[in-house]
Amino acid sequence: MQDVRSTFKDHGLRCTRQRELVYQALASSKAHPTADELFQALNPERDDPDEAGLSLATVYNTLEAFSCAGLIRKIPAPDGKGPCRYDADLSDHAHAALPDGRLVDVPPDLSRKLVPRLSGELARELTARLGFEPGRFSVQVIVHPRDERDCRCLDAGPDCCKG
Ligand SMILES: [Zn+2]
Repeated sequence: MQDVRSTFKDHGLRCTRQRELVYQALASSKAHPTADELFQALNPERDDPDEAGLSLATVYNTLEAFSCAGLIRKIPAPDGKGPCRYDADLSDHAHAALPDGRLVDVPPDLSRKLVPRLSGELARELTARLGFEPGRFSVQVIVHPRDERDCRCLDAGPDCCKG
């Protein structure tokens, strides 16, 4: 694996100790943390005023800089309201947004089937109709709460699972 310093250099980013810490914390997580979650992971002793950790603003700004440089992926909340999540895994893989707010990777074999189906013919059609070429596809599967998903009523109305 490439060392962090040359990874930063490849993306035109200056290497600082703080940036290294933020990147390593993100790269070692599979949870797609928010800036706040990463901040908490980096500052377990933050109740101690003598513990000079990273500020939330620093973590946030660092993640933004990484995202702008293409070093990490920034994943908006499915409803567009909640906080963004971040992923240091740049491979083309799909995500599943769970009802409890977690974001998990779709297993690699399924991602490999899903993502390429959106490129090829569909990418050509998009280019023809929109007039610009899609760069890459970001796939997010929104998972419904369990009781909705388990509903097997054939003519499921909005109230069929209640009561
Ligand atoms: Zn991911």
